[in-house]
Amino acid sequence: MPQIHDTDVSILGLGAMGSALAEALVKAGMRTTVWNRSPGKADALVARGATEAASAAEAVRASRLVIVCLFDHDSVHEVLDPLVDDLAGRTLVNLTTTKPEQARQSAVWAAQAKADYLDGGIMAVPSMIGQPGASILYSGSEKAYRENTAVFEQWAAGTYYGEDAGLASLYDFALLSAMYVMFAGFMQGAAMLAPAGVSAGRFAEMAAPWLTAMTGELGGYAEVIDGGDYSVPGQQSLTFSNLSLFIEAIAEEGVSPEPVAMVQRLIQQQVDAGHGTDGFARIIESIKHPGA
Ligand code: NDP
Repeated sequence: MPQIHDTDVSILGLGAMGSALAEALVKAGMRTTVWNRSPGKADALVARGATEAASAAEAVRASRLVIVCLFDHDSVHEVLDPLVDDLAGRTLVNLTTTKPEQARQSAVWAAQAKADYLDGGIMAVPSMIGQPGASILYSGSEKAYRENTAVFEQWAAGTYYGEDAGLASLYDFALLSAMYVMFAGFMQGAAMLAPAGVSAGRFAEMAAPWLTAMTGELGGYAEVIDGGDYSVPGQQSLTFSNLSLFIEAIAEEGVSPEPVAMVQRLIQQQVDAGHGTDGFARIIESIKHPGA
């Protein structure tokens, strides 16, 4: 049996992301063992110096640091549940997207298998791995994080958020939620302008600098929210923020006002509760206490 070195890494899952992670390690000269359920996906990596394991068990046994980047929580456990004995004494880093509660379940499961568990949320697309701008959020075993930063640095800027294994996923989903709603806002505007013959490309040129400038407002909203007083002077009130006119105008252009209507529902809930003179940041209360 070949000797295992502390710097050896095994990667299970060679989809778009797992392949990018493996490629960065091979490029850095690390001894990398790879495994994928379907054959053929390791060929390019093997040509560059990776070793392909014949089975997931063989991949786990090949290194002390085992990275999984599979489709979802169920696929991770489908692959790893039969391998609990092989995982004992190893460090398992799960970069598969899972819910916070699933990450916590995996941490408990790994502890029972006597493996050190670190969960990660990748804030990048595969082409960004190893490039500036990529980041990965980690939580779970601090020891696992600190001992393997030399590996993580090959992929992206890493940040460790604490021993609760669910935190990386929680931050990941929070950031992605903000992103998706922003993108839906862009789609709203693009759909409104399309009947006027304005291309989505033209609108993107206008929207990108506008939205970038508007992110300057986030700190101010955060100050109000963290201060806990939505009535501090100098804010745009909820009554002033009423988006009913927008909704009417959008509908008159023959497109759905749904993204804006969603925001108006959050505003209206607070106005109906008697908080119309408070600032716009108060809509966070509609999100924190739905139906209240
Ligand atoms: P892909 O769909 O490209 O790859 C999925 C991988 O999971 C493949 O290796 C596939 O194997 C494997 N797989 C699926 N089901 C099983 C199973 N039951 N048993 C064994 N292996 C299985 O996805 P990505 O590589 O893009 O993503 C992987 C993870 O990374 C996901 O959780 C994703 O959310 C996350 N991620 C991806 C990002 C991206 O931009 N791509 C960004 C951030 C996170 P097979 O080849 O045999 O089908």
